[in-house]
Amino acid sequence: LLAPDGRIASTIFAEMSSLAQATGAINLGQGFPDEDGPAEVLDAARRAIADGVNQYPPGTGIPALRQAIAEHQQRFYGLRVDPDREVLVTAGATEALAATILALVDDGDEVVTLEPFYDAYGGLISLARGIHKTVPLRRPDFLPDHDELRAAVTDRTRVILINTPHNPTGTVLPRETLELIVELAHEHDAIIVTDEVYEHLTFGYPHIPVAALPGARERTVTISSAGKTFSTTGWKIGWIVSTPELVTAVLAVKQFLTYVNGAPFQPAIALGLALPDSFYDGIAATLQAKRDLLSQGLVKAGFDVTVPHGTYFVVADAAPLGYADAATLCRELPALAGVVGVPISAFCHEEVGQEYASLVRFAFCKKVDVLERAAAQLAQLA
Ligand code: PMP
Ligand code: GLN
Repeated sequence: LLAPDGRIASTIFAEMSSLAQATGAINLGQGFPDEDGPAEVLDAARRAIADGVNQYPPGTGIPALRQAIAEHQQRFYGLRVDPDREVLVTAGATEALAATILALVDDGDEVVTLEPFYDAYGGLISLARGIHKTVPLRRPDFLPDHDELRAAVTDRTRVILINTPHNPTGTVLPRETLELIVELAHEHDAIIVTDEVYEHLTFGYPHIPVAALPGARERTVTISSAGKTFSTTGWKIGWIVSTPELVTAVLAVKQFLTYVNGAPFQPAIALGLALPDSFYDGIAATLQAKRDLLSQGLVKAGFDVTVPHGTYFVVADAAPLGYADAATLCRELPALAGVVGVPISAFCHEEVGQEYASLVRFAFCKKVDVLERAAAQLAQLA
């Protein structure tokens, strides 16, 4: 977790946002929207503050939010969830991941993830002194090979940690792969931890929550967050849904990490989760148009683009432009085109990163005029 000189190494997202700030380049690096989410959700938080909802809420989350999370699971996935025993509110998906990994993984336990993987996974597995095993997402579709998945999960595996829709590749895992993961979890008595923060950001490829598959629920911890769905990444309201036993285990850790989370944001997210289908359809449709806009711009600029099925990230291969090393390109990109992106190698172990060396992740959760400007500036690379 430390840089070679002993300082704390900053995350790739912080580094790239600083680069954008220092150079004035358009920040398509760190994934956060540049527009606010639904006005009624923002108003509900303002109202809560004005009404004095400003002291410690219950550690598991306010009842109204736990109820809304349970109803959301039922409404979208047909899952019946007990809001009192099977839901836990957390400080974003990040704390949900941290508390879950720390609760489940002991010294030397193996955790299997896909690769590339969201950077926090590597850090958290290290904090728990676990051993991180990965299954590569194979190009061109960024899907895992089923034989490689089978080989990675063994009796030493404590947790299979998946992420669908997937950051950074935009892959939405298909049912067959999820079914295999459930089968392997049973065979090797592993727990499935599934990070579904982009559950509502899919483009014609339905998100399948692993907990909805037969035999999955009793060994699955589902993690999500309000940040992506409601464009409130700075509020840090996330949650887990799992069995009463697993929720209790995660709560045991969570109580000493943050104790409780953002009181006035909780009623606001409860209201957001109950918004009508038109809201959910709208965010996906708006984002899909932005995906297409940036993807077309990247193709025009000479990148080879894998069009994502979900998330707000697109992966572009810089090899056709003559860049074998995307990390170098990302450092030069502010000067060359006034744009910041993140090299995919930052989501990989060093030795595996080579396979993805020429790939860059760009975020398209930005205003249309910002994406148009970015596309025009990137065209200078061609
Ligand atoms: N998991 C994934 C895959 C993410 O992309 C993010 C947000 N970048 C998180 C977890 C963290 O979510 P939160 O901001 O709610 O902690
Ligand atoms: N999830 C966002 C991303 O992948 C932001 C992550 C962060 O800043 N830690 O870019």
